[in-house]
Amino acid sequence: MSAQKPRIAILGMAIESSAYSAHRADYRDFGPLVGDEVVDRYPFLAAGTPLGDAADWIGVFYARSIPGGRVRTEVYADFKERMLSGLRDLVADAPLDAIYFDIHGAMSVVGMDDAEGDLITGIRAIVGDGPVITSPMDLHGNVSEKLALGVELLTCYRMAPHEDAWDTRERAARNLVEWVARDDKPLRAWVRVPILLPGEKTSTRVEPARRLYGAIPAIEALLGVTDASIWIGYAWADEPRCHATVLVSGEDREQIVRAAETLASDLWDAREEFGFVGPPGSLEEGVERALAHRDAGGAKPYLISDSGDNPGAGGTGDVTWTLTQLLGMPALTAEDAPLTYVGSIFDAGAIEELFALSIGDAVDVTAGARVDSRVSGPVRIRGVLHSLHTGDKDAGRIAVVRVGGLRVIVTEFRKAYHATGDYAAVGLDPLLADIIVTKIGYLEPTLYDVAQGWTLALTPGPVDQDLLRLGHERIERPMFPFDSFAERPDLTARVL
Ligand SMILES: [Zn+2]
Repeated sequence: MSAQKPRIAILGMAIESSAYSAHRADYRDFGPLVGDEVVDRYPFLAAGTPLGDAADWIGVFYARSIPGGRVRTEVYADFKERMLSGLRDLVADAPLDAIYFDIHGAMSVVGMDDAEGDLITGIRAIVGDGPVITSPMDLHGNVSEKLALGVELLTCYRMAPHEDAWDTRERAARNLVEWVARDDKPLRAWVRVPILLPGEKTSTRVEPARRLYGAIPAIEALLGVTDASIWIGYAWADEPRCHATVLVSGEDREQIVRAAETLASDLWDAREEFGFVGPPGSLEEGVERALAHRDAGGAKPYLISDSGDNPGAGGTGDVTWTLTQLLGMPALTAEDAPLTYVGSIFDAGAIEELFALSIGDAVDVTAGARVDSRVSGPVRIRGVLHSLHTGDKDAGRIAVVRVGGLRVIVTEFRKAYHATGDYAAVGLDPLLADIIVTKIGYLEPTLYDVAQGWTLALTPGPVDQDLLRLGHERIERPMFPFDSFAERPDLTARVL
């Protein structure tokens, strides 16, 4: 029996890279998986599950990093070669029926455009046009023409935050197996939509993204349609492929064209409706609101997003602008000031100094801006060593420094403090904090659940929410909201 199962290779590489971040993604940022480790990553492919038993899933290579800056050229070249040489070995044994090409879609590599397009070109050069290929993507990914032509079953998340990431990956595998069984390939109706927006304006928790994405299941249920997706695209890169995309796949040409054009048209018509998912403001306004919330007896904690350096979108994580401001606010640094957690700043040198001290010792350390000093330089932190922690696989060693009411988290390496558990792990109970200031955009689920008030602070940094001040030069124009449109753009679907 097993000899008759389709052979499906799994490979890919995923990172979201801000071209405005000074961070460079290196080997340390990725934890490559090879062979069976790759297959084991997907619980729905386990032996004994319907999908797992439907094919011979062959793991080749998969590497994933949290968002960051551009990938170093040599790291990308090495990973690409590991994927392609793995594929060459496989096709030398026997033909492949399909490929599960797992990507994010917003990877930037130093010195090149359209990295995912480059990968798919390399893959097709080895396997030819025969195998069906699927790519489960992030809705913040970009769909270039190369990618759309090379991958028959492109799909992406339908929720932001991405609570449906694993559902999306499973749907991609299911549709892939179905098309392999049909021994056929789907058509795709593809529409480029000239809109480029930050993720914080397109959360599916609020309108209009909620209803735009909410329309997808009904479209997907139509006869002759396999999948439908809307990519918001990635705003912190500067390439021609950065824009929104709608793509519907299936066998009914008329149906997929109509569906894609309807979705694209609805997206365009909703463009003026996109606003920040949470109450925006300056950092100062965020702190003022948090203090007023506390004075009015509001419940804890009040969240402030330091959105300009959100590592979850590509921020460097060592931008000091916000911490510098907070340290200059007596209302937060007085001994009896409200308890305020600040996550986080990374600096291996500062950690070295802090780990030479004992708990309770006076601290006078300069930290941050070692990688990204474009908006502010290293910050001097004078306080008391509150606690030391080891064993975090991402952050390395961690120190918490007390400056009046502030608890400043300093890490050895880059880490996003995006979950309540991240704070608890360093002895900072999120429910006891009056205020939590963290490098994040929209709140990820556990922080969202505990937040009793929130300001999305529009701070400067590599993922500045004010796109117009970033100075894009290479995106296609006209583009909303960069330009005004004299007439409606062409939203006709192209059938691939
Ligand atoms: Zn995303």
